[in-house]
Amino acid sequence: MRASTYPLVDAEEAAALVLDHTPVLPKERVAIGDAVGRVLAQDLIAPAELPAFATSAVDGFAVRAADAGAMLRVVGESAAGRPFAGGVKPGTAARILTGGVLPDGADTVVMVEDVRLAGESVTVPRDLRSGNNFHRPGADVKAGELVLRAGAQLGAAELGLAAALGLAEVDVHRRPRVALMSTGDELVEVGRKPGPGQITDSNRWALLAALREAAVDVRVLGIGPDEATALRRLVVEALDAADVLVTSGGVSVGTHDLIKPLLEALGTVHVGRVKLKPGKPFTFATLPSGKLAFGLPGFPVSSLVTFEVFVRPALRKLQGFERLQRPTLPVRLGYDARATADRTEYQRVTLRREGAELVAETTGSQSSSRLLSLAGAHAWVRIAAGDEGLKAGTIVEAMILVLP
Ligand code: AMP
Ligand code: MG
Repeated sequence: MRASTYPLVDAEEAAALVLDHTPVLPKERVAIGDAVGRVLAQDLIAPAELPAFATSAVDGFAVRAADAGAMLRVVGESAAGRPFAGGVKPGTAARILTGGVLPDGADTVVMVEDVRLAGESVTVPRDLRSGNNFHRPGADVKAGELVLRAGAQLGAAELGLAAALGLAEVDVHRRPRVALMSTGDELVEVGRKPGPGQITDSNRWALLAALREAAVDVRVLGIGPDEATALRRLVVEALDAADVLVTSGGVSVGTHDLIKPLLEALGTVHVGRVKLKPGKPFTFATLPSGKLAFGLPGFPVSSLVTFEVFVRPALRKLQGFERLQRPTLPVRLGYDARATADRTEYQRVTLRREGAELVAETTGSQSSSRLLSLAGAHAWVRIAAGDEGLKAGTIVEAMILVLP
């Protein structure tokens, strides 16, 4: 073993350092069918108004409000996509169907339920009001209106809107390409029986899932060895095609822990130790190309916690998101949360509703090897370093993963 030469950085400071070195990826033009979940890299300005013309909201008759109470002659029909070529003059009406263009001369639509039909004439109610039952041109969107700002995430409504405006393609931020590697000579592929002293590589699957949830392109590199030359070859090759490298394991100060010296040889290590529990050996480096390398600790919980605290916000920044952090909500602690003297701790909790409140209970032992402390957690509670901790009943802002 050797003592680490890296200064212990505050967790918040380390997170800020990571983001300072993280760029926003450039834009690319994609078909709207491929844009779900992506972040707009342009303001979307409406090229035309919506609706483009006055359309009926109901099935009925297009008439003049001035003809209220009269028996009118039906002179034609306006169906969706098949407008009536004529107009509506005093004493006449045109049958109209939902989505049909309001004919010239008409200023209101009467629902079919509200009229009396007799042959080719229709009697309309006495209380007609101009402007009823049709959508005015431009009522939903004005031409030239800013409908979506750069930075908006494209979901169902946003993509429907783009399509309605006739935009088949949009500019979005490029998706980060991430190379993922587990390291450690003790690791075997899942499904293979571990030999003496061996364990299954579980971090790969946990981190792969976390990366997929973050909607990035992932290339899995498999298991890297605890041998400097081979490891370096794998890392250099991976970074050739990726924007980001995420490794797990090999960042403590054991003689087999090769990631820190390797990243130091390839680029600049900005963070080598963090006042964070779990996750103290977390390492962050940049390469001369500007690419990012995250050396996550090997313990399964440590790797996922440091992913959440450092990697996920960086991936969101690369993707063009404005909000990089999870949302928070005030929750009442249902247990005494003890603090660690010198490290910020993220304790995993389940939430339950009590009236208008959310009450947090611990998921049990928060050991850095116990994935069950993360499985099923609704939220994370940040406990600042210090020896006081937080008593049951205290209200704290919790980072919300999912609400119960
Ligand atoms: P390290 O950071 O390499 O010293 O690893 C710390 C601990 O995490 C050791 O007990 C490793 O066996 C364990 N570990 C490292 N990598 C993985 C992995 N990919 N899956 C599960 N456990 C791991
Ligand atoms: Mg190791």
